[in-house]
Amino acid sequence: MIEKKSRREFIKQTTLAGFGGIALTSLPGILPAGNIFLQDQSFFSCDPLPYAYDALEPYIDKVTMELHYGKHHQGYVNNLNKALVGINVDKLTLGRLCANVSKYNMTIRNNAGGHYNHSLFWSLMKPNGGGVPSGKIAEAINDSFGSFENFKTKFNDAATKVFGSGWAWLVVDANKKLQIGSTANQDNPLMDVSEFKGTPVLALDVWEHAYYLKNQNRRVDYITAWWNVVNWEKANELFLLGMK
Ligand code: MN
Repeated sequence: MIEKKSRREFIKQTTLAGFGGIALTSLPGILPAGNIFLQDQSFFSCDPLPYAYDALEPYIDKVTMELHYGKHHQGYVNNLNKALVGINVDKLTLGRLCANVSKYNMTIRNNAGGHYNHSLFWSLMKPNGGGVPSGKIAEAINDSFGSFENFKTKFNDAATKVFGSGWAWLVVDANKKLQIGSTANQDNPLMDVSEFKGTPVLALDVWEHAYYLKNQNRRVDYITAWWNVVNWEKANELFLLGMK
């Protein structure tokens, strides 16, 4: 078990070692807490949604949640499993797959990202969420962005400007600084192919499938609503993990 390695050292080592020789069960400093990310499994599955489909109403509607979780996310998982047939996935975790995704084909890249990103996305929302963060993440946001309002403005700007389908992120970067950025399609900041890298703290899906039924083309309305369901306790957990 590698406990104290920096993220960069770890990725380097993992890359050099390949997948065959080492049997690591976790990626310290890379992966969010929670067994969906840390368990070894040959094939992947959707964890149960941590709340009811209608629990995020009125901000995110029930039908969108049913389709988004039950069809879109499940679709990424099904396609990922199909694409992994014939590939040695013993001991492979979703985080490791993302961190080394350049070794795999585009189908695996898109669907591994889709599975990872959506798992994270569900966990970062909750009923009666939103408001202002507290704890260490609140201090870090103030230090990095001046104020929570400035942070929100910057994050909204990043999410609004994603061209086409993609994700907006708050991450802890390699220098242990909070950074706001975005990725296209289902890429994420763990991926070795991503220009924007770091440990995810917040994730916002801005694909049209995330909001079109309720908000049609008005992505900004969806982003505004999403702030009301952010799970800041989970974000703080991920932040602390990223700072280790
Ligand atoms: Mn989605």
